[in-house]
Amino acid sequence: MHPVVKLLPKLLTPGWGRPGKPMADPRGIVVHWTANLNPGANAVANRNWFETFRGYKVSAHYVVDDTRVVLCVPENEIAYHAGTATKPDALALFGRSPNNHAIGIEWCVNQGSNGAETYRNVVGLCGEIMARYGWGQATLLRHFDVTGKICPAFFIDNRWAERLGFTAGAAHAWQQFRRDVVVATRAAEVSAIMAGRR
Ligand SMILES: [Zn+2]
Repeated sequence: MHPVVKLLPKLLTPGWGRPGKPMADPRGIVVHWTANLNPGANAVANRNWFETFRGYKVSAHYVVDDTRVVLCVPENEIAYHAGTATKPDALALFGRSPNNHAIGIEWCVNQGSNGAETYRNVVGLCGEIMARYGWGQATLLRHFDVTGKICPAFFIDNRWAERLGFTAGAAHAWQQFRRDVVVATRAAEVSAIMAGRR
């Protein structure tokens, strides 16, 4: 059974979180977490926060919870999510300005949501994107791999991994996630072939 991703476009108004600059050369995905455990901090709420927050420029292309994948910024436009690259994998893939080349995905961790469903939705979304662009495993990075930020914390910090149900630890969870995305990418490729899209 493959994940069913419910894509709900709710594009940001051009402005703070959506500069409207073209992203001409997408090269990979950067995965984040919202770091917000409040019960109402779902995908739509995070999208609405991007719309109204004025402290600094912040957004992502997608926000994902257990029931929705919300598209906030079109993939062919820049979103502000990854800062300035300092770590080798990100520098090699994106150069110093990852936002010019990275599709950003925010992972919701709101209490009361079904974490397994959110996991499946993020895996499915990453697989669908990577199949569409023909990207390999090296194009999937954590925010941590870009700047060293503890994001998503459950893929870096064992205490957060434990708290969010990744009982084998953060490093193991990240490796498992990468493997699951490979499987989802293959599934998306097969689906595209069967549907006659390639
Ligand atoms: Zn992040």
